[in-house]
Amino acid sequence: MSKYHPLSEAEAIEIASSIQEVFPTGEPLVSREIGDGNLNLVFHIMQPATGRSVIVKQALPYAKVVGESWPLSLDRARIEAEALLKQGELAPGLVPAVYKTDAELALTVMEDLSDHVIMRRGLIEGGTYPAFAEHLSDFLANTLFFTSDLGMNQQDKKKTLAGFINPDLCKITEDLIFDDPYRDADTNSIEDHIRDAAEAIWRDETLHLEVALLREKFLTHAQALLHGDLHTGSIFVTPESTKVIDPEFAYFGPMGFDIGAPIANLLLHFASQEHWSADEAARRDRRAYLLETIRELWTGFDRKFRKLWDEKGVDRVARAKGYQDDYMRRLLQDTVGFAGAKALRRVYGLAHVADIDTITDAAARERAQRLALAIARNLILRHRQAESIEDVIRIAEAAA
Ligand code: ADP
Ligand code: MG
Ligand code: MG
Ligand code: MG
Repeated sequence: MSKYHPLSEAEAIEIASSIQEVFPTGEPLVSREIGDGNLNLVFHIMQPATGRSVIVKQALPYAKVVGESWPLSLDRARIEAEALLKQGELAPGLVPAVYKTDAELALTVMEDLSDHVIMRRGLIEGGTYPAFAEHLSDFLANTLFFTSDLGMNQQDKKKTLAGFINPDLCKITEDLIFDDPYRDADTNSIEDHIRDAAEAIWRDETLHLEVALLREKFLTHAQALLHGDLHTGSIFVTPESTKVIDPEFAYFGPMGFDIGAPIANLLLHFASQEHWSADEAARRDRRAYLLETIRELWTGFDRKFRKLWDEKGVDRVARAKGYQDDYMRRLLQDTVGFAGAKALRRVYGLAHVADIDTITDAAARERAQRLALAIARNLILRHRQAESIEDVIRIAEAAA
């Protein structure tokens, strides 16, 4: 079995059975396909006799979107596997263990995290994750610092970068996040009751300028190796544990894009609280928890990143007085802008979020959508003036 083809369950089982460290004994395995089938197959392979299990994730050569499919490079599976391995080195324990990769079959065999919950789902069910901000700020500080020109030799970085050229998946981001939501594109999926708000955004030239600046940064600023798709659907959690999955969008880009992604998704959840919280007191508590998580995520990242810079920095020039403060201020501003852009497209762009879309009452859903748009728009408009994470918190509080 070598040439690429989508695996049958029997083939997925055969591949999994070769993982000696998980299945040292020969009892039979069973498979269940659990992916959403849009871009990838995800097989959950278990040995009923021992309860041991693995995940086999295989890329499909197309994406199913807007009713048809468009071709998508299988090389993203190699990129995903290499990014997972690198993240595992730089941020131990914060990604699944990788047991086997096969670039030709476009697959990765990895640790089964079914004892965790996807964070988006966990938040919707009312879960709180007290270790999350600490863990994710560790993940971000370590993966971003050690793949940047601050934390790795600049010539090595250029050579590493060449292995993470990811044009197809970058194009998805360039179009779906930085272009389509700002015009009447076919890919948008707009509920009638917020069409006026989308149309106002299509006419908002001040906003278009800020988005053009963010898009330019995404296209050109090869600052560090990003995860590239770090929303709450790419993070498995328990109250004690955090594991980041699904880095198929990995490429060298602006760090703020990765830091802004979880913030955007926490804010989308914030915007949906009228529905998910039982009463006003619960809503106040829940919103305070979400904003505190955002605050801890940024302040933890800022503290850890500066510490790495001071203790592990490889670049003499980067010790110039005032440079670190200037760099961190720009990083915060990028984070704020990208958080806004990532939140905005989730309201009426191609792929929405369950936090808002599963609100059954249309009027409550509309209020959540308008609140999310107001927060997102203000983050984008004000990102170049941001001085502190408190600016993000004030924008969310003022809009709610
Ligand atoms: P896609 O790129 O298609 O979004 P993901 O890597 O996000 O694929 O996986 C899709 C789903 O498959 C996840 O939401 C999760 O339910 C399941 N899954 C993926 N990886 C694992 C894992 N390591 N352990 C358990 N479930 C997983
Ligand atoms: Mg998916
Ligand atoms: Mg995913
Ligand atoms: Mg994915």
